[in-house]
Amino acid sequence: MARLGLILGDQLNANHAVLDALDAERDRLAMGEIVDEASYVPHHVKKIVLVFAAMRHRARELQNQGWTVDYHLFDSNSEIRSFGGLLDQAVAAHDIDEVLIAQPGEWRVLEHLQNWAGERGVKLTVLPDRRFVSELDDFNDWAAGKKQLRMEFFYRQVRQRTGLLMADGEPVGGVWNLDAENRKKWSGDPPAPRVKGFEPDDITQAVIDLVGAQLKGFGSIEGFDYPVTRQQAQAALVDFIENRLAYFGDYQDALDDGEDYLFHSRLSASLNIGLLDPMDVCRAAEQAYGQGDAPLNAVEGFIRQIIGWREFIRGIYWYLMPEYAQRNTLGHDQPLPEWYWSGETQMRCLAKAVDQTRREAYAHHIQRLMVTGNFALLLGVLPKEICDWYLAVYIDAYEWVELPNTLGMVMHADGGVVGSKPYAASGKYIERMGNHCKHCRYKVKDTLGEDACPFNALYWDFLMRHREDFESNNRMRMMYRNVDRMDEEKQSAIQARAEWIRIHINDL
Ligand SMILES: Cc1cc2nc3c(=O)[nH]c(=O)nc-3n(C[C@H](O)[C@H](O)[C@H](O)COP(=O)(O)OP(=O)(O)OC[C@H]3O[C@@H](n4cnc5c(N)ncnc54)[C@H](O)[C@@H]3O)c2cc1C
Ligand code: SF4
Repeated sequence: MARLGLILGDQLNANHAVLDALDAERDRLAMGEIVDEASYVPHHVKKIVLVFAAMRHRARELQNQGWTVDYHLFDSNSEIRSFGGLLDQAVAAHDIDEVLIAQPGEWRVLEHLQNWAGERGVKLTVLPDRRFVSELDDFNDWAAGKKQLRMEFFYRQVRQRTGLLMADGEPVGGVWNLDAENRKKWSGDPPAPRVKGFEPDDITQAVIDLVGAQLKGFGSIEGFDYPVTRQQAQAALVDFIENRLAYFGDYQDALDDGEDYLFHSRLSASLNIGLLDPMDVCRAAEQAYGQGDAPLNAVEGFIRQIIGWREFIRGIYWYLMPEYAQRNTLGHDQPLPEWYWSGETQMRCLAKAVDQTRREAYAHHIQRLMVTGNFALLLGVLPKEICDWYLAVYIDAYEWVELPNTLGMVMHADGGVVGSKPYAASGKYIERMGNHCKHCRYKVKDTLGEDACPFNALYWDFLMRHREDFESNNRMRMMYRNVDRMDEEKQSAIQARAEWIRIHINDL
């Protein structure tokens, strides 16, 4: 009898718990490019290239370290279509009586593997997933008994536990959070440096050819240049720390009509498949602050995204799944507009965000939250439809991180678990943070009339439709005071315009 370690495609971390638990001389590893995984949503083709290419590089690395790796190559006609199918083959060939995994990122995968093990009578051992700074138990202990779960308090606790940006038990600089300094508009100065890209080697090129021939997902496969090895991901981290971190804070919320990345890191893809360790990334940023190479607002803001938001979001996911995915507290039911897939809309901010998403499989946080996300919220899109879109189109998208961000942060469909109020905003916000509106067919200052920015009528209509849900929320009092300043005639005209937008949504 033998033991088998299953290494999932998004768990390529060097410190994978299964490698510590198994013996390279006696035990085997399995890795598979699985049909069902590549097609449960129409993934961006660059995302599939990333995962398969990084897996092939990692398998070679493990073999060089002396591991026996049974590697299943993708074939759209393969009889092996699921992890269960892959394990069936391994069990039959090698007399396996125990399978070891690290806790999968997604609930769906854990359930599938547990069902498989139960049905086959094979022991399944689930070890911790070491791609995170906090264990799930850390989060569960912190969350237990709390009426409200707020990222800021979880983040402070992780700062204390890790010692990141701490001095004598106090936050460096005397405050925990410098977000108020991080809301500048970008006017082109300093110029946004190019993000470091990586030429595909023979292994990656073979994957690009395979995916191009066999998979019809979303987006363009041209110009794939994401890191696919630990060394490349490390070089991408250094590039960010040296060239963009210093301005990360200032322009964190900025939008620009011509720049895809501005001063963002583009490291989520590498973090989420285990090519980068989150603590290493945070320490590199902290060191840049210590050496005077980046200011505190940039470094604190960046570290908060990783040990705060990323870990909090993952904690919420596992704390509340599977029921969480079914929530639709605001009762939204509109279909997702077709142009979320095609990019063919005259609304410039949305067309630009979708175009970039199709090209790069990337949009930065404010595009996801305040452009594509905000519009879906105001329109009242069915949460499941917008969640599936986010899960498909981004290179860093896995349900543990996509779902609480979309269903919770953007759609407020979780009843306020992730955010205490919805991030609803009119066109004014998009105008304030960037320059899209200057190039748009619609007039951002107008709410009524056929040239008026559609965000505006939808925004006021959203507030009116959900008065009962939000009127008593302290953080929204001012918004409702503004609604109440309008006379009834104006309110009705706005509601009529919003209804017209909903009917003609695919023609805007
Ligand atoms: C609707 C919506 C969907 C999202 N879906 C995903 C997703 O599928 N996968 C994903 O990794 N992130 C997701 N995010 C969070 C965030 O937008 C991306 O992590 C970020 O844009 C990735 O780009 P970056 O690496 O340049 O990030 P940076 O702006 O450079 O931030 C640094 C890092 O912080 C982490 N981070 C920042 N914000 C968040 C957050 N809210 N949740 C989790 N991690 C965060 C990421 O690891 C990121 O790499 C989503 C946000 C929204 C609003
Ligand atoms: S006017 Fe409205 S639709 Fe056009 S870019 Fe500005 S916010 Fe977007």
